Amino acid sequence: MLCIRGLLKESNRIMDPQNLILKRRDLPHFVAPVIHALSEIVQGSRLRVFLVGGFVRDLLLGGSLRDMDVVTEGNSGDLARQLAGKVDGKVHSHGEFETYAVFLAEGTRIDIAMARRESYLTPAALPQVEPGTMEQDLQRRDFTINAIAIEVQRGGLGDFMDPYQGEKDLRSKKIQALHEKSFVEDPTRIFRALRYQYRFGFSLESKTAQWMEQSIQQRIPALLSGKRLFTELKKMAEEKDPLPLFKALEQWKLFSFFDSSIRFGKDETKALRRLKEALKWAPSEFEASLTFLLLILSRLSEKKISAQCREWSLPRRWEKAVLQSKEATKVARSLNRPRLKPSQVYRILAPYELEPLLLFDAQGERRASQWIQQFICELRKTQIHTTGEELKRLGIPPGPSYKKILGTLRDLTLDGKMSSPVDEEAYLKGLL
Ligand code: ATP
Repeated sequence: MLCIRGLLKESNRIMDPQNLILKRRDLPHFVAPVIHALSEIVQGSRLRVFLVGGFVRDLLLGGSLRDMDVVTEGNSGDLARQLAGKVDGKVHSHGEFETYAVFLAEGTRIDIAMARRESYLTPAALPQVEPGTMEQDLQRRDFTINAIAIEVQRGGLGDFMDPYQGEKDLRSKKIQALHEKSFVEDPTRIFRALRYQYRFGFSLESKTAQWMEQSIQQRIPALLSGKRLFTELKKMAEEKDPLPLFKALEQWKLFSFFDSSIRFGKDETKALRRLKEALKWAPSEFEASLTFLLLILSRLSEKKISAQCREWSLPRRWEKAVLQSKEATKVARSLNRPRLKPSQVYRILAPYELEPLLLFDAQGERRASQWIQQFICELRKTQIHTTGEELKRLGIPPGPSYKKILGTLRDLTLDGKMSSPVDEEAYLKGLL
């Protein structure tokens, strides 16, 4: 992810799109070749192709540019295949309405969709989709700041489409929905609005805030499937700083749609701050978003966890981590015993996934926290030299005793009683 300096900061008017690209010296390197390839494809054909939505928004804002969204009024499959041919990408079909993704060699994803119009038959249900014009495609979008597009033309970029004054809202830092029924048709937009609000430091336009409130009061988000709801919560946990988002979910009473037991109060705020600190020293193998989610999901009763995790389609490892996150008190009690040895700490903490451990650290007293940090950074990586093969070579018959012997060797190493292959060999000889 590369950052580009924002156009909105440097001028009072949107530049003509050609300049917009040309002026950026620090664009991610995939942008120019992809636009060049798209402009070659439209050349001489009657295909209309647009860059659209979040990509254009972030281009104007000067934010990080990640994946690109492309919409065509023509055949999206053809466009995807032609683009992939020109930029040496791989095409994946989404199985959804004529939606394709072209993956570039370095992992960037270009989403290619056919312009569509959508109609909502019942609140919160997925819409009915039909091919449409670019204008209709912008009409179906969530907020004015996302209902913008730039046409790709021969030789580069052409017209900037902004039917709902998204550029003005970007400039005045406003999140504004396109119409009154927006949050009834699709209540996931409530979560999206909050995400954009805190990601960009924008405010909610007053009518938009009222419409959100009405949708919540009418309990419309309760009509969403558990999986769609959870996806929104997960996206919040993936933001750089989920703290204001979780507070907003509490303020807007949105946690009630997940489970009535979920709260985000003072204790959770304190623990989340500690989690953020912990993630600074924690190794990169931690899934930060899971760690943040555990803070919330650990409020669920044990009975509910399995059913909820299945409804939300969480992977087994996540379900295990959520269940384990309920054991903070038990772990703290075990770790607060005086004169613990590193080997005992290892045996207490080794059965846990890493993310619940970080949660215990953030909720724990000093002594427990110190042990958890030592376990994460040091104890769990302790290696012994002896292997099962070695035990076989020494004539010890294979069986459950292997686990016991190797465990003892690890304990002795952790407690500083042995440190080399020679020490281990001497110990093993003593067993024979
Ligand atoms: P992010 O940076 O979080 O990925 P994004 O704006 O790129 O933000 P996506 O979820 O990738 O968001 O969606 C791409 C575009 O599709 C959005 O910019 C928006 O125009 C449109 N969109 C996505 N979800 C909705 C929705 N629920 N309702 C209407 N339009 C939507």
